[in-house]
Amino acid sequence: MPPPRFACFAIALPLYRVFEYAIDNKAPVIVGARYRLPFANGIKTGVLLNASEHSEFDPARIKPVLEQLDQHAILDEHMLALVRWMSDYYLQPLGEVVFQCIPGYLRGARAHHPLRVKRWRLTAADADLIDALERRSPRQFEICQALRRQPDGLTAADLKQINPHWHAVMKALQAKQVVRWEWIERPLSSQPSAKLPVLSDEQHGVLLDIESGLDRFAVHLLDGITGSGKTEIYLRLIADRLAAAMQVIYLVPEIGLTDQLIERVRSRFGDCFALSHSGLTELQRYQAWDRFRRGEVSIMLGTRSSLFSQCDRLGLIIIDEEHDHSYRQEDGVRYHARDVAIKRAQMLDIPIVLGSATPSLVSIANCARETYFRHRLDQRPTRYPPPPLQLIDVRNSRFDFGCSAQTFARVEKHLQQNGQVLIYLNRRGFAPVVMCHECGWQALCRNCDSRMTMHQSVQTLLCHHCGAKQAIPETCAECGHQEVRHYGIGTEQLEQGLRQRYADTPILRIDRDSIASRDALKSRLRQLQSGEPCILIGTQMIAKGHDYPAITLSVILDADQALFSASYRSSERLAQTLFQVSGRSGRGDRQGEAILQTRFAEHPLMQALARRDYRVIADDLLQERRQLGFPPYARVVIFRADAVELKAALAKLDEIKALLQPARGFAELSCVGPMPALMTRRIGRYRAQLCLLAQDYQLLRSVLAQTMPEIQQIPGSSRVSWSIDVDAYDL
Ligand code: ADP
Ligand code: ZN
Ligand code: ZN
Repeated sequence: MPPPRFACFAIALPLYRVFEYAIDNKAPVIVGARYRLPFANGIKTGVLLNASEHSEFDPARIKPVLEQLDQHAILDEHMLALVRWMSDYYLQPLGEVVFQCIPGYLRGARAHHPLRVKRWRLTAADADLIDALERRSPRQFEICQALRRQPDGLTAADLKQINPHWHAVMKALQAKQVVRWEWIERPLSSQPSAKLPVLSDEQHGVLLDIESGLDRFAVHLLDGITGSGKTEIYLRLIADRLAAAMQVIYLVPEIGLTDQLIERVRSRFGDCFALSHSGLTELQRYQAWDRFRRGEVSIMLGTRSSLFSQCDRLGLIIIDEEHDHSYRQEDGVRYHARDVAIKRAQMLDIPIVLGSATPSLVSIANCARETYFRHRLDQRPTRYPPPPLQLIDVRNSRFDFGCSAQTFARVEKHLQQNGQVLIYLNRRGFAPVVMCHECGWQALCRNCDSRMTMHQSVQTLLCHHCGAKQAIPETCAECGHQEVRHYGIGTEQLEQGLRQRYADTPILRIDRDSIASRDALKSRLRQLQSGEPCILIGTQMIAKGHDYPAITLSVILDADQALFSASYRSSERLAQTLFQVSGRSGRGDRQGEAILQTRFAEHPLMQALARRDYRVIADDLLQERRQLGFPPYARVVIFRADAVELKAALAKLDEIKALLQPARGFAELSCVGPMPALMTRRIGRYRAQLCLLAQDYQLLRSVLAQTMPEIQQIPGSSRVSWSIDVDAYDL
């Protein structure tokens, strides 16, 4: 058989097609490797998808590839199959999906080379030579002593710990031929040290259940109340897989990846894990990917995109806090990491564990359909159960920076008892509304349909959607009135107020403005870890995942808005947030409390939140969804368009709708729109949507299968662009 001469490549472009080039048929063809390709007037990087002897086109007009970048596949056969599935399921251009699934570092033309580490050792030099250094050069001696204790040698990082100016010292030692270095490809792992806690009967039962099916595909939902020891079960399952020489991907939401968790994994498994999250550089993330790929480490611990780590012996995927919204990628290639992970597990015939104290309604519904196994943990192995949520009716209350007198009384009680207090307020900035009392004028963003938030620390008004800035006005822009006031409370104002009121108590604030880096977050979490009384204020960032045993009171300041949201998801989200926040309290050796300030204490959902357990509420919410015919009892696909004028966005969707309408089965779907999106103007562009909703998933897929080939041809431009959102999060 003659060798292939042509190949198809995926290129990162928003086009639903692949590109053909001629290849050198003397070199081996590597499917899944990157090549440099001539493209228009420039050069692009493409991933080789398949090769063949023939081409449909005139061979003379097919351009040859310029260069082969990789000696082996950066997307193996399994990953390519997963990528194809994603492209097909989410109806996203294959090229964009392919490049989404490789490390950012490799998306251009950078070489893919294994990570090597320099390791320094002592030579066989005379022991006396070293001893003689003790008096003459104590710094050289210090390092030699450290190297003596480490026959395997030390890396630059280790040496830096001993002496920040190690470089000069090593140079001197090298000149004396006392030390030498060599490249190593496999850093040595430090030894795990942790003593294992004795599992509770409940934990033990769940572990046995899951372990009995580790050799095949299954989706396990670990539905355990906050602090019930889910993480402990993940760690046991990982140990089990490692013992079978398999690898594990362990995903957490961005904010769940704290030092605390990293330390827990390290103390259990030593250094045999790689970390990947958005706080690392592209190079660091690539190195983590590469170490995992080569089997040098067995665990990939990371956030959403770590799911795309490839390896030869994947044996388990864990998704912690599976309900968390950060698993959904909302821009570029839209996908849900949990759902893609389930597909990946199915393709590899391996188990996947989803864990949460507040599982998503869709996962609960999948348990009811018996496609997932549900495992419950109802007790905390520590002494006290999570506290019930107590409602504080604040209809007639006076507020100081958003807190009622009753709230202060509770906070003070807990501080006096040496407890830590967590106050959840999901609104950053100083005040969310700036307006004129005289004429009702409000400070609005010029690019978005939204209000400007006042930020006092930087003395500006800020739009949280587009980042637009504006000076705080001194007079009303509309009527010239001399006084412009602010209303409502953000975390910045709350912090200021609490600092004045509790001058002797440390006040820690955790939100996007106060946490510029992971280090800032680390230092605050360390303070919590110390167990000293303090007040922690924060947004979403503090709601989940953390385990700080000294917190004895959780306060939720303002959740009322969620009761009247236009989103059908808001009740689910509210219930999850409230249970997560209240579950941060009472994890140690003291019973916790959780309180919620509300003006709507009689509201049925508030009543339910205070009286029932999350699972009962979730079942009620599912009932409601079923009656309304909303997900998870229906599937949603949304076509979105955005343009410099609303008219153009709507017209683009009309064009798409005209292609959908003649399809067989279209009449049986519900089709809503085109209509302006809820937030019509955002970052200077008008947004519109066309929503397809169907109880019958096959019907929806069939309509799309008939029409997508044509819809995909509809060009987008910078003036008006369109995209498709499968399993859209909201309507
Ligand atoms: P979750 O992941 O469900 O929030 P964790 O696994 O973090 O729960 O456990 C909560 C706390 O209980 C942690 O401090 C953990 O060390 C501790 N813990 C978990 N399992 C046990 C056990 N079997 N015995 C004693 N303590 C445990
Ligand atoms: Zn005015
Ligand atoms: Zn804006």
